Amino acid sequence: MTANLLDYDLEGLAAFCERLGEKRFRAVQLYRWIHQKGVARFEDMTDLARSLREKLPGVCEVRGLPVLTQQISTDGTIKWLFDVGGGNAVETVFIPEDDRGTLCVSSQAGCAVGCRFCSTGHQGFSRNLGSGEIIAQLWYAEHFLRKRFNTNERVISNVVMMGMGEPLQNYSALVPALKTMLDDHGYGLSRRRLTVSTSGVVPMMDRLSQDCPVALAVSLHAPNDPLRDHLVPLNRKYPLAELMAACKRYLPAAPRDFITFEYCMLEGVNDQPEHAQQLIALVREHGVPCKFNLIPFNPFPDSGLKCSGKAVVKAFAEQLNAAGIVTTVRKTRGDDIDAACGQLAGDVLDRTNAAERMAQRRGQVEQAVVWQPREKS
Ligand code: SF4
Repeated sequence: MTANLLDYDLEGLAAFCERLGEKRFRAVQLYRWIHQKGVARFEDMTDLARSLREKLPGVCEVRGLPVLTQQISTDGTIKWLFDVGGGNAVETVFIPEDDRGTLCVSSQAGCAVGCRFCSTGHQGFSRNLGSGEIIAQLWYAEHFLRKRFNTNERVISNVVMMGMGEPLQNYSALVPALKTMLDDHGYGLSRRRLTVSTSGVVPMMDRLSQDCPVALAVSLHAPNDPLRDHLVPLNRKYPLAELMAACKRYLPAAPRDFITFEYCMLEGVNDQPEHAQQLIALVREHGVPCKFNLIPFNPFPDSGLKCSGKAVVKAFAEQLNAAGIVTTVRKTRGDDIDAACGQLAGDVLDRTNAAERMAQRRGQVEQAVVWQPREKS
């Protein structure tokens, strides 16, 4: 198969062009045609030298991802299902708001972390996406939206790596894609508007702070290790004290002076006043400047979990806010097309039998995670 130019950040494309005997400025031209103008056919790249336009088709192409389905919600949210081959498909969601357009991008076909409340986690894991497959989601969505809204201006202002997959378990493909999102010759996003969300892959958080420090969101979901071990199994490898220390180390390089903690509200599991107290104690003990984003759980078949009631979510947010921790409740978007957080499922050939293991664990997990008041001593 010929090289896919979507796989390269600008440095990678410059190296590719050099191997073809072409100067760096040719790589810049190509990169701008592809990412800024959304052009895939070399013959349409009119200011490229004719000799280069003729040379390229034999050695490379701009290979996007086939769209399997596109669903548009009544609230304007758009969800695409992209075919990534081998029976796998990943989902990407565009969320329009008054002051921004956010694209939620997938990094893996499935996910091996297996968070208890996550639809993707229940499907198991097939494979990592390549850099080109990550950036192809933005490439397609941005240029589709420009046509839809009949504009040459950028439509997508924010990208969140919060779709299917744990981005920091696909680090080598993630970083070139992030660099293209940030590059002024690519999509020109600001580092503050590009967020990587992780369930807490501590060593890779450290590397990201050095290689490409964008905004960081951490999927916390529990205030103590026993509960987090069940909800986010990666916690057994990187427990809360290590995760909090990694958050602190990340901040000096980060574009924002706080970490966002995502917290999925699960009825009777992690939503009690005691859990809020424990969260307050946790972030105070470790001195992590942070904001909390409470996410109403979106039930999916066989999850065995329920979303906390509105009053419970409100009271939980008030408790954190009263302790001086800025806390917001995420608005649910794209409900009618299953595009809300935690609902992205795509199609995944589960090569690791993660889904099977999760199903076996379900009964025991259920008993373990349901919150019980502590016995008074
Ligand atoms: S929440 Fe994220 S890390 Fe956890 S299973 Fe889902 S996709 Fe993977």
